[in-house]
Amino acid sequence: MLAVQEIERLSEEFETKTPQEIIQWAVDTFWPEIAMSSSFQTQSMPLLHMVTSLKRGIPVFFIDTGYHFWETLMFREKIASEWKINVIDLYRDTRWDVFARQNVRNLPLDDPNLCCYLHKVQPMQNALKDIKAWVSGIRRDQTSVRANAKILEMQNGLLKINPLLNWKTVDIQNYMEEHNLPVHPLYEKGYKSVGCAPCTIPIGVDDDERSGRWAGRGKVECGLHTDMFRKKDIAEVQDEFQMDVMKASK
Ligand code: SF4
Repeated sequence: MLAVQEIERLSEEFETKTPQEIIQWAVDTFWPEIAMSSSFQTQSMPLLHMVTSLKRGIPVFFIDTGYHFWETLMFREKIASEWKINVIDLYRDTRWDVFARQNVRNLPLDDPNLCCYLHKVQPMQNALKDIKAWVSGIRRDQTSVRANAKILEMQNGLLKINPLLNWKTVDIQNYMEEHNLPVHPLYEKGYKSVGCAPCTIPIGVDDDERSGRWAGRGKVECGLHTDMFRKKDIAEVQDEFQMDVMKASK
């Protein structure tokens, strides 16, 4: 792995590079110990297109929470098949099944942080433990947490690479048009950002892109791009949950 100073230097240097240049560097440096993640929504298409065009066969992690819209699953199937993408579906750890059977119906509403932790954060942590670099599609203009992100970030021995960090919504739209990329079937119905069905609502044309996610519930991030992701042990993040998961899982 690169030294911390080198990562900071490169991260600064990449502020003026194109996403394609950053991705090419990442692939050249880390292949085959590199993967990307995608939620297969409209705004995911440019990064997915760039990465899979530059490196055929790169693993693309898709977190299958079990709460996705049917349209998302169908869109994922269509894109994976047409673009011949090496999609790897990630699922909740089966050790949580007893707990989940008792609570899963209401979990997204009763305790969304715990729900995201079990269905998104833990599966992604497990998937990434055998690789060295993770390409993510976050942008600074999406949330206050993401506004402070860096293009290269170390997380527990893993290098997170954010090639689109400086892109705005208009850059996504321009790339989509330029490459004639497909649009998620719910986009035209007002779902500008699509997550799990219990936590996503359609929004108005002038609303912030992610305002339909966990709307009115004081939550803006699932935990993949926050401090929660840096903590590996559930006991470390337990304070963030409303439900006592340690008791509930016994
Ligand atoms: S987005 Fe909602 S349903 Fe999906 S994992 Fe998070 S809380 Fe659960």
